[in-house]
Amino acid sequence: MDYKEFYTYLYRKLNKRTPQLFDCGSLCENICCKDDEDDKMGMYLFPHEEVMLNNCDTFSFDESDFEYGGKKCKIVYCKPFCKRNLRPLSCRIFPLFPYITVSGDLKVIVDPRARGICPLYKLDISEFSTKFRRGVKHVGIELMKNRETREFLFELSRLIDDEVESILKFI
Ligand code: SF4
Ligand code: SF4
Repeated sequence: MDYKEFYTYLYRKLNKRTPQLFDCGSLCENICCKDDEDDKMGMYLFPHEEVMLNNCDTFSFDESDFEYGGKKCKIVYCKPFCKRNLRPLSCRIFPLFPYITVSGDLKVIVDPRARGICPLYKLDISEFSTKFRRGVKHVGIELMKNRETREFLFELSRLIDDEVESILKFI
């Protein structure tokens, strides 16, 4: 599998598609791109996605605690901001996520990890730009075609299940 070609294709799919038809960064002063005062913010990289970002000096990499298929997921930090055309897939799809149910169905959802960060979190999925929703769905379909990226999506969906469970405890 040529991951450079694969992610170049996925990046292009979401190059010009944004959650709303206006710049949603104007609602929150781009909070999803800012580090918390005490906490450096990192994004999970999809399997082998580092091939896209290795040559960019605004990024640094580490291993996260999240595992899929016996491998540790890499995490990327941006300092202070990335070049927009190089932003990783996690940032391109945020705050939506191509979620895989336990039985293996793909559904585009508002990512519960956006709670407390993103002002769009409370919107119904239908209130997001149609092109953006379709783009995230398309990316999900492509990720499902490859064993490793499918495993990654499935395990990340289980992490999202845990997040939902912990949110429900507070309701
Ligand atoms: S936090 Fe949400 S509203 Fe703000 S820039 Fe990020 S995606 Fe847009
Ligand atoms: S990589 Fe870019 S889009 Fe993603 S959080 Fe950092 S600055 Fe924002």
